[in-house]
Amino acid sequence: MEIQQIHKHYLANPIVCTDTRKITKGCIFFALKGDNFNGNKYASEALEKGARLAIVDEQEFAKSNQYILVDDVLNTLQELAQFHRKQSKAQIIGLTGSNGKTTTKELIHSVISKKYKTIATKGNLNNHIGVPLTLLSIKADTEMAIIEMGANHQKEIEFLCSIAQPDFGYITNFGKAHLEGFGGVEGIIKGKSELYHYLTENKKAVFLNADDPIQLNKLGSYIKKYGFSTQNKDYYIIDFLGATPFVQLQLENLKIHTNLIGSYNFTNCAAAALIGKYFNVPLEKIKEALEEYTPNNNRSQILEKGSHQIILDAYNANPTSMKAALENFQQMEGNTKIVFLGDMFELGESAKKEHQEIADLVKEMNYQQSFLVGENFAATNTTIHQFKTFDSLSENWTTLKLEENCLILIKGSRGMALERILDLL
Ligand code: ATP
Ligand code: MG
Repeated sequence: MEIQQIHKHYLANPIVCTDTRKITKGCIFFALKGDNFNGNKYASEALEKGARLAIVDEQEFAKSNQYILVDDVLNTLQELAQFHRKQSKAQIIGLTGSNGKTTTKELIHSVISKKYKTIATKGNLNNHIGVPLTLLSIKADTEMAIIEMGANHQKEIEFLCSIAQPDFGYITNFGKAHLEGFGGVEGIIKGKSELYHYLTENKKAVFLNADDPIQLNKLGSYIKKYGFSTQNKDYYIIDFLGATPFVQLQLENLKIHTNLIGSYNFTNCAAAALIGKYFNVPLEKIKEALEEYTPNNNRSQILEKGSHQIILDAYNANPTSMKAALENFQQMEGNTKIVFLGDMFELGESAKKEHQEIADLVKEMNYQQSFLVGENFAATNTTIHQFKTFDSLSENWTTLKLEENCLILIKGSRGMALERILDLL
C-alpha cells in the first residue's frame, strides 16, 4: 500500500501505537521488531484491544482487511512520519548534542508554548522510532515542533534530519558522550554536526552558543545563524548571574531565577531564551516559562533526605557532564560535602583513562568524603574509597559513618541506578 493511503487511514484517527500494553481505542498499531521481540506476534492482540488497523511485515500474521502488510514496518513508520511532516506547516526545531538535550527541549517547549501551539518530544523518545512518533503527534493546528534527536554513531542525525526536516537547529554541546560509538571526540563533533550540514544545505537557520569555540568555528562562514553569548556583542547578550544553587540569568532588563541547579544549565536556559526572543515571545513570558520549569527523572534534582541536602543527578553520566557536575558542586555552599560517583558507560577504549581522570579530579577536590562505585571506578588507581558494585556499597553502608547535615552529590550512568542511595540514607 502506498504511503499516501496509509496516511489517509492515519488522518481518520491520528493515533499511533507500538506497544499492546498501551493501546488506545481506534489507533493504528505498528508491529515493530526488536532484538528480543517480534511485534507481528502481537498484532492480533492489538486489534482485540481496540486498535483499528495493524501494520505488519510478515504475511502469516496478516489475517484480515484490518491488517496492512508492508515490506518493513519500521521503514513504513519512518516514511509515514516524513510524509506527515511534509504536509504540515509547523516550523520544526531540531535539537541534538551530547548533554542537556532533553532539558533544553523542555525549556524551549515551555518558552515557545507561551505564544504558539507547540508539540515536543515526549520524555526521551529521541531515536529512529521516537522521532517518527513525535512527528506523528503534529496536529493540523500545530505551529511549532521541538524535536530531540539522539545519536550514538555517525549518520544517525543525518538520517533523523531527513525524516524530521528541521527548519532550525541547535546543538547543546559537543561533549564526551557515546565515545565508543562515535570513535572519539572528533567523531562526536562530526556526528553532531550532521544537523548543521542538513540546515546549511537546505538554507535553514542555526541557533548557537557563541561562547562555545567549537560551535563558532564550525559555523564561521554560515550566514543564517543566531547566537547568544555572555560577552560577544555580535550576538544576543544573556548574562550568567550564578548558580547558588539555582541558575540565574539576566535577559535585557529582566533577572530570571530558575529551578535548575548546575552552572551547565545556564546554556540550556540561554538557548531557550534566545529561541523565544527569535520567535517574538514577549520577554516577560520567556521569564515566566523559564521560572516555571522544574526538572524531573533524576536529572539534577535537589532533594532533602533526613538532615541531608542531596543533588541527585543519577539520570546519566559521561566525562563531560561528570566534570561539569563536580565543578558545580565544588562551588556550592555546604559545610560537609560528600560525593558518590558511579561508572560512566559507553566509553569503549577510553573507559580506563576517563575514569582515572575523574578519580584524580575528585581526589584533588578533596571533599570530606568521596565514594566511587562500579567496576571501572574500582579499577582506578586512587586512595578514594571504591566499591565494585552497588551491592557492596550497600552492604558496607554502616561502615561509611556519614555525618549529619551534609551536602551530597550523587551522579552516575543510568545503568548504575545510583538513586538507590536515597534508600540507604
Ligand atoms: P540523553 O542522551 O539521555 O538523551 P540528554 O542530552 O537529553 O541525555 P539531559 O537529560 O537533558 O541530557 O541531561 C542529563 C544530564 O546531563 C543532566 O542531569 C546534567 O548532569 C547533564 N547536563 C545537562 N545539560 C548539560 C550541559 N549543557 N553541559 C554538560 N552537561 C549537561
Ligand atoms: Mg534526552
